[in-house]
Amino acid sequence: MYDYVIIGAGIVGTSIARELSRYNANILVLEKENDAANHQTVANSAIIHSGHDPKENTLKAKLCVEGNALYETMEKELNIPILRTGAFVVAHNQEEEDMLDALYQRAVNNGVKDILFHDRSQARQIEPNLADDVTKVLSLPSTKVTYPWEVAFACLENAIHNGVTFRKNSRVTNIIKNENHFNLEINDAETIQTKSIISAAGIFSDQVAYLLEKNVPYQIFPRKGEYFVLDRKAKGFINHVIYPLPTKKGKGVLIIPQVHGNILLGPTSQLQDEKDLLSNTREGLNQIKHDLHALAKNIPFNLIIRTFAGIRASSSYEDFYIQESKEYSDFFHVAGIDSPGLTAAPAIAKYLVNQLVNKHHLKKNINFDPIRPKKTVFHKLNFEDQLALVKKDPRYGNLVCKCEKITEAEIVEAIHGPLGNDTIKGIKKRARAGSGLCQGGYCEQTVLKIIARETNQPINKINYYGLDTPILVQETKVKP
Ligand SMILES: Cc1cc2nc3c(=O)[nH]c(=O)nc-3n(C[C@H](O)[C@H](O)[C@H](O)COP(=O)(O)OP(=O)(O)OC[C@H]3O[C@@H](n4cnc5c(N)ncnc54)[C@H](O)[C@@H]3O)c2cc1C
Repeated sequence: MYDYVIIGAGIVGTSIARELSRYNANILVLEKENDAANHQTVANSAIIHSGHDPKENTLKAKLCVEGNALYETMEKELNIPILRTGAFVVAHNQEEEDMLDALYQRAVNNGVKDILFHDRSQARQIEPNLADDVTKVLSLPSTKVTYPWEVAFACLENAIHNGVTFRKNSRVTNIIKNENHFNLEINDAETIQTKSIISAAGIFSDQVAYLLEKNVPYQIFPRKGEYFVLDRKAKGFINHVIYPLPTKKGKGVLIIPQVHGNILLGPTSQLQDEKDLLSNTREGLNQIKHDLHALAKNIPFNLIIRTFAGIRASSSYEDFYIQESKEYSDFFHVAGIDSPGLTAAPAIAKYLVNQLVNKHHLKKNINFDPIRPKKTVFHKLNFEDQLALVKKDPRYGNLVCKCEKITEAEIVEAIHGPLGNDTIKGIKKRARAGSGLCQGGYCEQTVLKIIARETNQPINKINYYGLDTPILVQETKVKP
C-alpha cells in the first residue's frame, strides 16, 4: 500500500514528488507516457517569470513570485541550467505607457523586486534590435530562463534518490474509493492501493478527476501555443526576454533567448477542442511573424531551424486549483496549471505538501539529500579535462552529434542514467543529440544504432518517442 500516488510526471508532479520525499512516506509517481516531461513541460517558453502579469491576490501571482525565488536554490541543489536574461515589457505610445504604469503597480503589489523603467534611448542602448517605435520599457531583472524538462528530470532523479518510485507507461484508467484507501487501476489491467492521490495530470486533469468525482469543479480548455526556433547563430540578437503588453488572451508573442543559445519566437494562443493536436498551422506561424514586428527589427527569420507547439491546461477556474476533493477525502487536485506553472512548480509543491504535512502529520525524512549531481557536458570542459576523460573512456572521443557536439559516451549515459530512456526523443531530451541545425538529419541513424546496441534490441524495435513508434519498419532493399 502506498501513502501517496502522484498522477503525472510533468514539472508539477516531479516537483511534488521531490518535495514530498523530504518526509517519511511511501510514494509512487505514475506517468502514462514513455518518459517524464512529455506534455506541457516539454513544449513551453522556458521562462521563469518575475510575477508581473498574474492578477493580484491569486495563487498564480503568489506562487509565481515564490517559485521564481526558489529556482535560485534549485540551481545550486539540482545543477539545472539558468540564464539570467531579465525581461523588457515594451510600450509604443502614451496609451501603452499608461498601461505599463499599471503593470508596474501590479508587479509591485505581487511582490516583484527591482523593477524599473527605461526610456527609448536607454532601452535601445541595452537592446539595439528593439523595434524603432518602442517608446518606453518596463525592466524586470528577476526574469530568467531554464531548460524545463531538465528541471523535471532533476526533480524526479532526486526524488528517486530519496526513495520515491517512478513508473512510466502507466496510465491511470480507473479510481475506486474504499473505506480507507483508493484502488487505482493502471492500463485497464493491474490494480494498486494507496491512501492518498495527488492528481497532477496537466491537460488531462479533468479526465482523471472524472474517474472518481461526479462534479469536477473545473473544466480544462486546451490552448495551443506555436513557436519558431532560431539556430544558435542567432545568439545575441536579443539578450532579454521581450514581452508585449499582456492582453486577455495572455502574455502575447515574445522573443525568448534560451539557455543553449537558441532563441524562441512565440507563442500564439488558440483555444482548440483536442488535447493532443500539436500540429503547427499556417495562421499561427504567420501571426507570430506579424506580431513580432512590434517588438524588434532585423529578426533573423533565415535562422529558423524548426517549429513546434505546446498545449496549455487553461481552466474555467481561471487560477491554479490546488485543493482536496470536496467529494472524496485524500484526493488532491493540482489542476489548471497553465502559465506560469513552470515558474510556480517548486512553490506549488511546497504549498500542497504543507497541506499534506498538516493533515497527515508527516515526519521529516532525516536522510533526505537535496543534491542531484552535476552531469558531464564534454564540450564545456577544458582541453586537459577532455583528454583525461577520453583516456578513461574512449567513447568521449567519438563525436556523434556534430551540431551540438555530443559524444557517444554522453548518449550512453542518457540511455543508462538514473532516469534512462531508450527512445530517440528521450535521448534528444537528455543529451541534446539532434537538437541542432540539422535536427538529427546527420546523427539520428547513429543514435538509433547506439540505442539498439546498448539495450540489446533489434534496430527496427527502437521507438521515436513512445511505445509502438518505430522509425525503421522493414528493409527496403532486400535481395530476391
Ligand atoms: C505554449 C506554452 C508556453 C508556456 N510557457 C511558460 C513559461 O514560459 N513559463 C512558465 O512558467 N510556464 C509556461 N507554461 C506553462 C507550463 O509549461 C505548465 O504550467 C507546466 O509545464 C505544467 O506542468 P504539469 O506537470 O502540470 O503538466 P504536464 O507537463 O502536462 O504533465 C502532466 C503529465 O500527466 C500525465 N498524465 C495525464 N493523464 C494521466 C493518466 N491518466 N495517468 C498517468 N499519467 C497521466 C501526462 O502524460 C503528463 O506527462 C507554458 C505552457 C505552454 C503550453
